[in-house]
Amino acid sequence: MYIETFWMACDSTEQLRAEYGPFHTRAQAEAEARKLGFGYLLRYEHVLDENEEIREVRCIFLELPGAAEAVVPVVPAISLHTRCATCGQSATHDKAWQAEVWADIHEFEHTRHRVRLFEHARGKGLKEIGGWRG
Ligand SMILES: [Zn+2]
Repeated sequence: MYIETFWMACDSTEQLRAEYGPFHTRAQAEAEARKLGFGYLLRYEHVLDENEEIREVRCIFLELPGAAEAVVPVVPAISLHTRCATCGQSATHDKAWQAEVWADIHEFEHTRHRVRLFEHARGKGLKEIGGWRG
């Protein structure tokens, strides 16, 4: 399973927003957004399985900091949490593959433990991702 990412410049987070792109890198999208006076970037993540089928699509908005001297650290809007259903050990990850590696190691080291995966979206809370261990 891997994630394909691309970027759009957009003028708002509303349903009826103007979008421009896609771009392969965040820097390209950001440069274009600034040229157009757009205040947001949109990151699309396609989670692909080993047959290159899209299993999940995620959209993550990033607000561009207004002025260069007021650069705000960008907090990822979505983080991944793994938690072992058996012993309760947990961890946080930025990327899906990191969560998989954590689960692989944990389930290898602890026979019959089962790791669950949760996605945390800002303002939306925690959502379990089912069937992620195929
Ligand atoms: Zn465990």
